[in-house]
Amino acid sequence: MSDPRDLLRSYLRQRAELGDAELVLDRHTPREMREMLSPHPAAPGRAPSREPASAPSPAASRDASPLPSRTSEAPSAADRPHVRAGAQPPGTTPMQPAPDAPARGVSTEEIFALPVLASVRDIALGCPRCGLAKTRTRVVFGEGSETAELMVVGEAPGENEDRQGRPFVGKAGQLLDLLLMTVGFPRESVYICNVLKCRPPGNRNPLPDEVEACSPYLLKQVELVRPKVIVAFGTFAAQTLLGTDVAIGKLRGRVHAYRGTPLVPTYHPAALLRNPGWVRAVWDDLQRARAVLDSTPA
Ligand code: URA
Repeated sequence: MSDPRDLLRSYLRQRAELGDAELVLDRHTPREMREMLSPHPAAPGRAPSREPASAPSPAASRDASPLPSRTSEAPSAADRPHVRAGAQPPGTTPMQPAPDAPARGVSTEEIFALPVLASVRDIALGCPRCGLAKTRTRVVFGEGSETAELMVVGEAPGENEDRQGRPFVGKAGQLLDLLLMTVGFPRESVYICNVLKCRPPGNRNPLPDEVEACSPYLLKQVELVRPKVIVAFGTFAAQTLLGTDVAIGKLRGRVHAYRGTPLVPTYHPAALLRNPGWVRAVWDDLQRARAVLDSTPA
């Protein structure tokens, strides 16, 4: 079943059987829905631009920053993803190993020197670099096309992902697959990973030292896949990669850059399950990513 309309129908049927009364259709006119479900969606400039009432107003697409050229330099320590100041629990000092700190395993420099994704993955699968090594079931390194033009970055594995060792395989993942499909990115064509490779217990927010410990893997994934565009789903992925504390509602709606690679921030699919009215905004953001790809020389 590769037609996005069939996928959407089957997804909605599944949601209804699970007891969900609504998803995203209420805010759209039949014309908007036809455009959304078309296998060849309208160009972003022509798409209807109504924003959900509850979403912060996005900057107009004319504000999109000019796209810088991509770089293949090795990441330096100064380029590590931002660690959110607000995420630090009171009374703790980030980046100072506690007496019972977990073994560091392979050093950051050694990870940066790894030449191919398979070797980064091998190292990550046995990673002891933070406390999540003790609570995880499986490491969720990431998956997908190693030559993908689009890279999806989420926050951290949840319960299903922790059990299966694969990113975005739960309900939020199904919605992600569907959204990607409607803008012409079937799941198998993209590379999907998270800021954290291990599940924080109870799905709590990642801690600064966990991001610090895990960030070399994400940097290497970006460096080795060399996507033409990154979509950062959710506050955590966007703030971490962009090195900012600005709210996702203010970040989304235009194209940023991460180390020279265009980066499109948008709401997390799990947030969409709680706020179906935001689907329109995410779809506009994905169209933005599509437009970046379509305007990037092969
Ligand atoms: N949420 C995420 O951010 N990543 C996953 O892999 C699953 C849920």
